[in-house]
Amino acid sequence: MIRELVTDEELLAKPCEPATAEDAELAQDLLDTLESIEDGACLAANQIGVTKAVIAYKNEKDRAHVMFNPAMKRALRPYRTEEGCLTREDTTKVTRFDQATFTYQELVDGVLIPRKKECRGWTAQILQHMIDHCNGKLI
Ligand SMILES: [Zn+2]
Repeated sequence: MIRELVTDEELLAKPCEPATAEDAELAQDLLDTLESIEDGACLAANQIGVTKAVIAYKNEKDRAHVMFNPAMKRALRPYRTEEGCLTREDTTKVTRFDQATFTYQELVDGVLIPRKKECRGWTAQILQHMIDHCNGKLI
């Protein structure tokens, strides 16, 4: 189901609770909503009003993926950049890492399975943006 984007800073500033396998419908809503946004690259659950650590993003091939409880483990090559956000008007200056390892969970047949992924460049950047959202950071 496509949901409306939330711009309420009080809600967006709240750190998200860990997501569970019960959040399957939320993950689908995230995918539906992300697909409905022209040029949308990524979306965190709190941006559609649910403070759970679930995110959706599109990779370089424009394929949408969902991550439950994403975290960054090992990060290399920091750089300064400026980012825009779907739920904020202004851009923000941030430090990102060009290469990083991410841990997360994937929902497979109703069970959360731990996964690990090494990303670079654009994908690494948007995942860092998403993890900031999960931590209640306004970017
Ligand atoms: Zn954002």
